[in-house]
Amino acid sequence: MIHEHRVLNPATEEIVATVPATSAAEVSTAVTRAARAQRTWAALAPADRARLLRRFAVLVDDHRERLARLEVTEAGHTLGNARWEAANVRDLLDYAAGGVERLTGRQIPVPGGIDITFLEPLGVVGVIAPWNFPMPIAAWGVAPALAAGNAVLLKPAETTPLTAQYLARLALEAGLPEHLFQVLPGAGDVTGRALVEHPGVAKIVFTGSTRVGKEIMAGCADRVKRLTLELGGKSPNIVFADADIETAAAAAPMSFLDNAGQDCCARSRILVQRTVYDRFLELLVPAVASVVVGDPSDEKTQMGPLISLAQLERVRGFVPDGADGIRGSAPTGAGFWFPPTVLTGVAPDAPVATQEVFGPVAVVLPFEDEEDAVRLADATDHGLAGSVWTRDVGRALRVSRAVRAGNLSVNSHSAVRYGTPFGGYKQSGLGRELGPDALAAFTETKNVFIDTEA
Ligand code: NAD
Repeated sequence: MIHEHRVLNPATEEIVATVPATSAAEVSTAVTRAARAQRTWAALAPADRARLLRRFAVLVDDHRERLARLEVTEAGHTLGNARWEAANVRDLLDYAAGGVERLTGRQIPVPGGIDITFLEPLGVVGVIAPWNFPMPIAAWGVAPALAAGNAVLLKPAETTPLTAQYLARLALEAGLPEHLFQVLPGAGDVTGRALVEHPGVAKIVFTGSTRVGKEIMAGCADRVKRLTLELGGKSPNIVFADADIETAAAAAPMSFLDNAGQDCCARSRILVQRTVYDRFLELLVPAVASVVVGDPSDEKTQMGPLISLAQLERVRGFVPDGADGIRGSAPTGAGFWFPPTVLTGVAPDAPVATQEVFGPVAVVLPFEDEEDAVRLADATDHGLAGSVWTRDVGRALRVSRAVRAGNLSVNSHSAVRYGTPFGGYKQSGLGRELGPDALAAFTETKNVFIDTEA
């Protein structure tokens, strides 16, 4: 059994920390402590809970630069991205704090009495996070779960536990009860599995691969445990001939190269209407070449390394040597580097065109008309995000409504905002996070009828 994990800097392969792994027995102790802390937390006046979460947000803001630098070191994120991510955690906490005093039930007209509903906390929630956006994705679960009156046990990915641990220290400093928010680093099939199987954990929030998500779903089924799944994606970027082609081509590279393509919303299938296909490719070549790939701690860098050697090998496996397409440049030597890559002439049902690569690789496929675009867009098991580029507002809405995915953007690649719901269709997930209903996902609805005739 692994007792500790080495955290590597993916840009240099240096070991930056060694973090003890949490055993199943330690998970059990953490659950007992969290359950006790949760009762204290839920008994606080809502305004006091909100105030403590706001204080937590202020501390995150004060430590933003430290958190961002830590994310650069453990995850290889560019400094610009990492700063945004730390600020996003602050904003999520603020947004969730605003919900504490607005988590209201309903009064429903019924004969013979009064009927009211209560949104009650679930108890202890387990959040299992991936390595690709360690801080924000953890906070998508942690912030609303705490705000709704729950305790949270967060299991970060093996490769990226450091920002999670830092956030737990800030929560304590902000005055949240001890053990209310605990970070349990460790292996997925030990620490993660223990959270899934523990009867004292009421809900699992999992973000990660579709394969592991299915296993977790099966594990939760045994106890009918509540579950949210945010899984993989293979999102289309649909460019119609009536779009502003220059803008669409200029925006396309970073829509799949951000975070070195390790983004569940990466627009890694570029679908272009045949009549503008050649023009689009002409514009795409210099746009890909201009992306600055290198040292993630340099403010000018737009794309850093992949997270690990395993991920690098996985990405290489999708790209045959000598395949046709456009390639950018990447550093050589130490670090897990792969150049920006756009493949052309790929069959629409090839693995690289339908499966999540999770690296800086996209394919470009031509389509004929609106119907063909939607058919191609939906030709994967995923349905997380997508973009539609057109100047025709009717078409923008028709196509956005038709594509079977949870998060569409028109003439932009924006997918995730803390104030709007986020989640997947098909095998991209189950349930929604963020947005106005985020807190409700961490509650049970209780209905109480009071007989007024008795
Ligand atoms: P992963 O599924 O390998 O691991 C995710 C987490 O689950 C890690 O913390 C891991 O330790 C844990 N885990 C692994 N096996 C487990 C088990 N048997 N029981 C319990 N926990 C277990 O995913 P990853 O490689 O870390 O992340 C990349 C994946 O995450 C990609 O597929 C990506 O699309 C997906 N993702 C989805 C979203 C979204 O919101 N839909 C966001 C980001 C990433």
